[in-house]
Amino acid sequence: MNFTKSLKSAVILLLIFAYSGTVYSQNDDCGFVYTPEAKLYFDSIKDRVKVLEEQFLQQRLTSRNSTLLSSVAIKAHIIRQTDGTGGLTVIELNDAIADMNSIYADAALEFYLCEGINYIDDDNLYDYETYDEADLFADHSVNEVMNIFFTDAVVSSGSGSSLCGYARFPGGTITENILMANSCATNGSTLSHEVGHFFALTHTHGDNNDFGSTEELVDGSNCESTGDFICDTAADPQLNYINVDINCLYTGNTQDANNDFYQPDPLNLMSYASKECRTIFSPQQLARINAINQTSRDNLICTAFNAEFIADETDSCDANLTVNFTDNSSGATSWSWDIDGDDIIDYTTQNVTHTYSTYGDYDVALTISDGTNSINKVKSQYINVGAQETTTTTITLNLTLDNFPMETTWQFLDENNTVIDSGGPYQDPLDDYATKTATFTISPDLCYKFEIFDTYGDGICCASGNGFYELLADDNSVLVTEGDIGFGVSNNFFSGTLSTNNFSKASIGLFPNPSSTLITIKSETTPDSYSIYNTLGQVLRTSKVKSDADLKLNIEALNDGIYFIKLNKDNGNQVLSFIKN
Ligand SMILES: [Zn+2]
Repeated sequence: MNFTKSLKSAVILLLIFAYSGTVYSQNDDCGFVYTPEAKLYFDSIKDRVKVLEEQFLQQRLTSRNSTLLSSVAIKAHIIRQTDGTGGLTVIELNDAIADMNSIYADAALEFYLCEGINYIDDDNLYDYETYDEADLFADHSVNEVMNIFFTDAVVSSGSGSSLCGYARFPGGTITENILMANSCATNGSTLSHEVGHFFALTHTHGDNNDFGSTEELVDGSNCESTGDFICDTAADPQLNYINVDINCLYTGNTQDANNDFYQPDPLNLMSYASKECRTIFSPQQLARINAINQTSRDNLICTAFNAEFIADETDSCDANLTVNFTDNSSGATSWSWDIDGDDIIDYTTQNVTHTYSTYGDYDVALTISDGTNSINKVKSQYINVGAQETTTTTITLNLTLDNFPMETTWQFLDENNTVIDSGGPYQDPLDDYATKTATFTISPDLCYKFEIFDTYGDGICCASGNGFYELLADDNSVLVTEGDIGFGVSNNFFSGTLSTNNFSKASIGLFPNPSSTLITIKSETTPDSYSIYNTLGQVLRTSKVKSDADLKLNIEALNDGIYFIKLNKDNGNQVLSFIKN
């Protein structure tokens, strides 16, 4: 990084600082502003997040998925009066984190305190106003940790109104700081709500706090593009103390643009229902939290005690892959590795070498202990043994660069490791944030490898822009998409031949989706049978398929929500997801 480049980064960081989306939660309301910049950031990661969400929701259907919770470090700052009195007690802090952990366990996350509590004794900050923010963060915020500042009162300097707390979306600077008023920290729901914003969840009523302003329709037809951008939360005109009764039931009669009556969920943690009502995240909200933790929030690290590892190989074309795992943790005195996601400890040395001999995508989980406490790092579907099979005849690369294009190179290789095409390093500053495209023609029955590298090791997303790459098949389906590539990643593809036995994801479709009554499955090959699962992995319905007529399914009896349908053919299967609304 040269000086000009650093200066440019600093200017961009300042701009992001000025515009980044701020989410204020009041006792009754939030002054939520979903800025164009925050939206732009979310749009840039949406494709990757969608792949990870689907992975998360499907994970209970395979045995290669770890059920360990990934540990997320919190730096807790307790603000007291100058004489050291007042402030949240340690018992209250531990209770608040325990409440949050019981909720976030369903997102496969748990929170732990990084290096105890930082006490800040300052009368001025004890009566915190939002214009104190710059000083507070400059003096006390720890980089790359979730900082939570607990103080007596949080007041908006602009409006003078009292806030419960506030947090920011990922994407930009100072997004790792959360402010909490002590009275709200212990109410059981507001801390989880604010941390929801930290993991890119919006309110269920969407990006605007004017009552009834949501454009999300009750029938779910525009749920991906408006409202809270989550499809398994009901459209919400905005809840309050008037339209939710003491039993947490919605009593309003607001209608949407189709004259359908809203049926919002007052139990949802991201709603404006009273604090006591809010107890749950929907499955897709949980999946989004988990996905954002693996992408935008992947930089969180507690330098004193942190679980982290890397592998020298993560992909292979055939069924044999030997991998050297290197521990990059800090503060560990013992290590436990589950290298295939089956929840059985395989190794207890610091660094391990393992040979995989069965096709599959495997979670890898490392648990470390410092003698007193244990924390985990889970990498979802980290090891991919055997190539992803595709029937496409071309693969198209779309690459969006970050602010350091000269760090990025890529190559596409055939089975003999001959380079078919390559790109980069790109030019600085000409290619800053630029998008590059290339198309590769592939032949049947061969293995191909795509490799992408970042010489600085910080990937192409996150710290210096929102870059990412995606590889698309003929039908524009996404074969792989990623931005957080560290020093580099590789992906293998096997170009299968289209035969009567072919049963690939590209040859299967499901429509309409979402649906309330009927869904139709279209498949080039008729499957032998199917099973429908809920998000808990429970089988709800299994049926044999004799003809295409059996692939028109009535789903009226299912409750609203996300489901999976597993189609079986010979020894293979494919899983599709759909939404009943
Ligand atoms: Zn909020």
